[in-house]
Amino acid sequence: MNGAFNLGKVFGIQLRLHYSWFVIFALLTFALVAPHFYSWFWWVIGIIACLLFFGSVIAHELAHSLVGRANGIPIKSITLFIFGGIAQMTKEATRPGAELKMAAAGPACSAVIGGVFMLIFHFNPGMPEPVAEMVQWLAFMNLGLAVFNSIPGFPLDGGRVFRSVLWRFTGDYKRATRIATQVGQGVGYTFIAGGIAIIFLQPFNLSWFSGVWIAFIGWFIRNAAISSYRQARWRETLTTFTAAQVMTTNCPVVPSDVTLNQVVQEYIIPSGCRLFMVADYGGRFGGVLSLQNIKSVSQRNRGVTQVKEVMTPIDKLPVAYPGQDALSILEQMDESSTNLVSVVSEGRVVGLIDRDDLITFLRTRSELGI
Ligand SMILES: [Zn+2]
Repeated sequence: MNGAFNLGKVFGIQLRLHYSWFVIFALLTFALVAPHFYSWFWWVIGIIACLLFFGSVIAHELAHSLVGRANGIPIKSITLFIFGGIAQMTKEATRPGAELKMAAAGPACSAVIGGVFMLIFHFNPGMPEPVAEMVQWLAFMNLGLAVFNSIPGFPLDGGRVFRSVLWRFTGDYKRATRIATQVGQGVGYTFIAGGIAIIFLQPFNLSWFSGVWIAFIGWFIRNAAISSYRQARWRETLTTFTAAQVMTTNCPVVPSDVTLNQVVQEYIIPSGCRLFMVADYGGRFGGVLSLQNIKSVSQRNRGVTQVKEVMTPIDKLPVAYPGQDALSILEQMDESSTNLVSVVSEGRVVGLIDRDDLITFLRTRSELGI
């Protein structure tokens, strides 16, 4: 997710905060404190409550991540954003059991946290009013999080549980994903319709703003369901191809000491190639230059930056083998945060695979309807 910055690591998992998170933080704090706007004490309590709430959202995502990791699904980062949290995995579950446990862990964690706040509220009748209200709110929010995430529309947690059950009983991952993401779209549209109804009818004293919010969440779920299905289909397609079929074998060679502008003018524009092998004076291969490398330098500086300054050294590239399936190569790229792998056979580089190659490959196939 672009526009996010790192907060640090927990259990080896990178915690990230997306800028849109500040919007929801401000809105929630304001909603909590608005009835007591002129009391500084309420502001302090409101901000603490909100921070504790986002702490529990992180706990929810950590529950997914740790259970996922224990079941062989590596998690790279957790990002907090306007609609909550997202754990980014570098691999999808390969067994329904693993997916079920990982998906259920999040809502279970939120339910437990909500229950604990409820018990605190129940057994401490003497708490000052703002604190009591904060504890009650945290119980309500966490239980709400558990319930909302249990809705069986993919990619919500409940939808993942639903898919794993379908997958377990039909043995058909593709079909299970199709059904679960269709239900996900249905859930999205229901939220949009419900949100619009609230905007106009405002039942149960709900404000028009909650209607807008619910419709927005619906729109987000609908989009996420559609793109999850598309991604699942792409992943499926990739498993049927090998590195040898998707790799680029005839990359032109560029000298290491020419500038990026020269590469663009003399190599890329005439040939249309997007990937180059880089050779030094002795003709030795030193690395690889991709369009991504060039794009990382601003247009202004491309006239003074040499190829060797931005190329990816050959020994830094993850290594793949010709017979390896293309999906595992994409996962390898995600795990090592690179966009490029070298394909090696008998100790020799026989080809290169760029992330763009994989995407172009899939797009061409989908345009041809094959
Ligand atoms: Zn979750």
